[in-house]
Amino acid sequence: NRTPLIAGNWKMNLDHLQSIAFVQKLAWSLKDARHDFDQVEVAVFPPFTDLRSVQTLIAADKLPLEFGGQDVSQHDSGAYTGEISGAFLRALECKYVIVGHSERRQYHAETDEVVAAKVSAARRNGLVPVLCVGETADDLEQHGPSAVPVAQLQAAIAGLPKTADLVVAYEPVWAIGSGTPATPEQAQTVCKALRTALEEALGQDAAASTRILYGGSVKAANIAGFMRQPDIDGALVGGASLDVAEFASIARYRQ
Ligand code: 13P
Repeated sequence: NRTPLIAGNWKMNLDHLQSIAFVQKLAWSLKDARHDFDQVEVAVFPPFTDLRSVQTLIAADKLPLEFGGQDVSQHDSGAYTGEISGAFLRALECKYVIVGHSERRQYHAETDEVVAAKVSAARRNGLVPVLCVGETADDLEQHGPSAVPVAQLQAAIAGLPKTADLVVAYEPVWAIGSGTPATPEQAQTVCKALRTALEEALGQDAAASTRILYGGSVKAANIAGFMRQPDIDGALVGGASLDVAEFASIARYRQ
């Protein structure tokens, strides 16, 4: 009952004009390949300035793609210069929003408290949070594989209702943009620990229905190994999501 999700985090790449061409090509390429979007969901996470264009195109052409923002404010409105409200993202028909990406934690000092507040803000506005957790190389050395990602997850979901719709993305910081992904077995170990933490916090049903993605140097050549793991339900793809053919073949990992 966990539909696999292949998600492309564009980060700060592709402006709104490029986003239109990209989404059109991606949809055509997947349709040409007879991709079954009910079997494997495909989502893109463009920069905020692209979202209106992506929404308009997807609605006009009835494209079977989902989309979301890369971040959300913990506040819904007010004097927060430069911030984007979850209500605005929902008004643009975003389904998802990425919360707590390691680049936000690292470069924008997002603490576990801020990330938890953003998870709440997303849910309050009808968005499904794609909550990112992951350890640095230092964390791995000091605390082992699962401790930091599990603690980040626990901090972000404390107090959520048991029925909360949530996606978790395990992204080891040392694997992001490095060309060196975790091995599928390493990733499975952590994703399994994350699922156990979900069960402890939200119960068995939530743990069984919540999708856990792997992210960090995913490409067409290595996606299948991750998708074979019992606790990995998809991927959050950075660099390789910027190439239509490559991203389409990641989404078509079963072929
Ligand atoms: P890469 O796929 O470029 O390693 O990035 C992963 C990531 O951070 C997705 O959110």
